[in-house]
Amino acid sequence: MELFDDSRAWALPVFALIILLEAGWSVWRGRQAYELKDFAGSMSQLAGNIAVQLLTRGAILGFYLWLYEFRIFTVPNSLLGLLITAVAIDFVFYWFHRASHRIRIFWTVHVSHHSSELMNFGTALRQPWLAPLVKPVFYWPLPLLGFDPLAIMTVGAFLTIYGFWTHTEQIGRLGVFEWVFVSPAHHRVHHGSNPIYIDKNYANFLIIWDRLFGTFQDEMEPVRYGLTKNIESYNPFVIAFHDIRDTIVGVRHAKNIRSAVAQVFGPPGHQPD
Ligand SMILES: [Zn+2]
Ligand SMILES: [Zn+2]
Repeated sequence: MELFDDSRAWALPVFALIILLEAGWSVWRGRQAYELKDFAGSMSQLAGNIAVQLLTRGAILGFYLWLYEFRIFTVPNSLLGLLITAVAIDFVFYWFHRASHRIRIFWTVHVSHHSSELMNFGTALRQPWLAPLVKPVFYWPLPLLGFDPLAIMTVGAFLTIYGFWTHTEQIGRLGVFEWVFVSPAHHRVHHGSNPIYIDKNYANFLIIWDRLFGTFQDEMEPVRYGLTKNIESYNPFVIAFHDIRDTIVGVRHAKNIRSAVAQVFGPPGHQPD
């Protein structure tokens, strides 16, 4: 998910402090969680993501407000209404995230979140540059159904911040909590390139979506983080755009239209024939 609009600016110094604590704690335990180049790579993605958000959020909010005028219901801004909003956003996020893994054109954007071979709170901030442009493709039904666009933004911000703490190796299993809510163990699996971990645990807040829709995987074996083919680069532009480049190459080498379309809209593993 995206991090930071003005209502979330307070989170930056809090995150910085938590990152310092995690780095210190991991050194104390004898297994350093951070590498400077990798962390800088993550920060470069965060910076670009914030820039794109600042440039686009006015237009996106305007689009949602316009759709909201044609709403079917009106979800009230009561406590119950906000809870329903949270569940609805989390549900849409599940499908947005699942599509981001299973449809190449969305994967070209999301892949940067997965390119770190380390799992730490810095990786949580490795946010795709173009994700703010992709999200409305999935979120537009919410204002049309009757969810207040401002509530979507605010509740969405809290859910995004929730997603920060699940990016760590420093927290173990959490018992019954993991029946309902996404835990660090769940999200470590999501960042794994081990065959059993690929395309699992898409949820951000409620793990029930993965349990319901058949994509849940428990943490069983040690996780190998990163991509099945790692990019071996810390260049911000390579991190952000390497798979867009590869997709264009694949389309140019496609033997026919069908194969070219599959390059863009098929699953990411699709090889040119
Ligand atoms: Zn993902
Ligand atoms: Zn993640």
